[in-house]
Amino acid sequence: MPQKAELSVCKFGGSSVADAGQFKKVKAIVDADPARRYVIVSAPGRRFSGDTKVTDLLIQSSDAPHLLVNNMAEVEKRFRKIADDLGVEFDAEGQVEQIRKNFKAGAGIQYLKSRGEYLCAQLMAAYLGYDFVDSAQMIVFNYDGKLNVEETEKNLREELSKHEHAVIPGFYGAYANGVTHTFSRGGSDITGSLVAAAVGADLYENWTDVPGLLMADPRIVDKPLAVPVITYKELRSLSLMGAEVLHEDAVYPVRKKGIPINIKSTNEPEEPGTLIVSKASYYKQVLDVSGISGKKGYAVISIVKEKLNEDPQFQIRLANVLSEQKIKVEKRSTGVDSVELVVEEKTLRGKEDALKAALCEGTGASSVEIKGSLALLAVVGRKIASAPGVSVKMFDALSREKINIRFIDYGSDSISITVGIDEEEYKHAIRAVYQEFITCVSKPVE
Ligand code: ASP
Repeated sequence: MPQKAELSVCKFGGSSVADAGQFKKVKAIVDADPARRYVIVSAPGRRFSGDTKVTDLLIQSSDAPHLLVNNMAEVEKRFRKIADDLGVEFDAEGQVEQIRKNFKAGAGIQYLKSRGEYLCAQLMAAYLGYDFVDSAQMIVFNYDGKLNVEETEKNLREELSKHEHAVIPGFYGAYANGVTHTFSRGGSDITGSLVAAAVGADLYENWTDVPGLLMADPRIVDKPLAVPVITYKELRSLSLMGAEVLHEDAVYPVRKKGIPINIKSTNEPEEPGTLIVSKASYYKQVLDVSGISGKKGYAVISIVKEKLNEDPQFQIRLANVLSEQKIKVEKRSTGVDSVELVVEEKTLRGKEDALKAALCEGTGASSVEIKGSLALLAVVGRKIASAPGVSVKMFDALSREKINIRFIDYGSDSISITVGIDEEEYKHAIRAVYQEFITCVSKPVE
């Protein structure tokens, strides 16, 4: 097994800092390992279903003057309650009053929506006894809104080298003129990754409310297993097909430096979670696959033209029509006399007839058909190309459940197989395929 990390950067998501009880769990986690020297926090999230995240309260408060008053009072109340319950001295009233004043003086909506992280990091720093270091002085955006990677890395490295222990607010930074700018929603994951890369951490721990990357959507499969180890490539494949784990821009900074990410649950810290690594050959793979994901909302365009595979001009003409019609192809399968394209159904809305005509005319096709209500289901696993029988298991499961396969794609990256099925069969298919692979858990595959 890999050696224990000497320097870990820990990011705690909104659910991990939602109330005083969660703050206590964070402290126990941080105190349990001296390697955990840098902590990044999100703004407090939902405490119960139907609750509003602090970031949403802040975003809504810019909509109308009465919402500014009400929501800021709510934000103040939430922070005051956490501080009181923890017995930490924290001037929630004064802080919120200052934020309101700055906003009224023109600090902007990005400033306002970043204040959940700002307040949370200050409170967490006071509670842990760590330094508070503001992201606004380290994370730099260019005026086009893109991150200035070099400046940011240099600032983080220089500033954090002065702090043995620090809490850093996630989600935001500033332009060179000091005006606050945020990443897109969920962007604290990016802050954590940038910090881990800049300080040369051995591990980036991303603490959330699930015990790792789940092998299937928990809204469809009851208590799916978490995958122990996954590669960045597999993660990308699963995310493209709808699995939600990390902000997609959070992977790059740590991946570039070869720092693994460990997704863990603040509520079950003893669980190993999911380790995301560049190369997994070091680890035993327990199951044939790393995850099953999918999405609804696709359509298949079937184009028929005799011997199209012998016509070198056909693909060029097809590409031209698709680009003129602004159609993005997700998957494609070519036969002797036909080609099938999978596209997002919403991109076709209102232009099916025009597209069919353009395809017939532009490519010389004898027929073009469009059929919607397609769902894609992908199984992803780094050993798919080498482990015999993975596709057979998938097809077995679907055929046993009498689910018709409308489209098949063996990913060129050799780590995924995708099938297209009727949307109404989607959940049923995910459950059947998941069950099929999970029941093989007692038969380890190296
Ligand atoms: N608080 C922000 C959001 O709700 C950023 C984050 O949590 O990462 O999107």
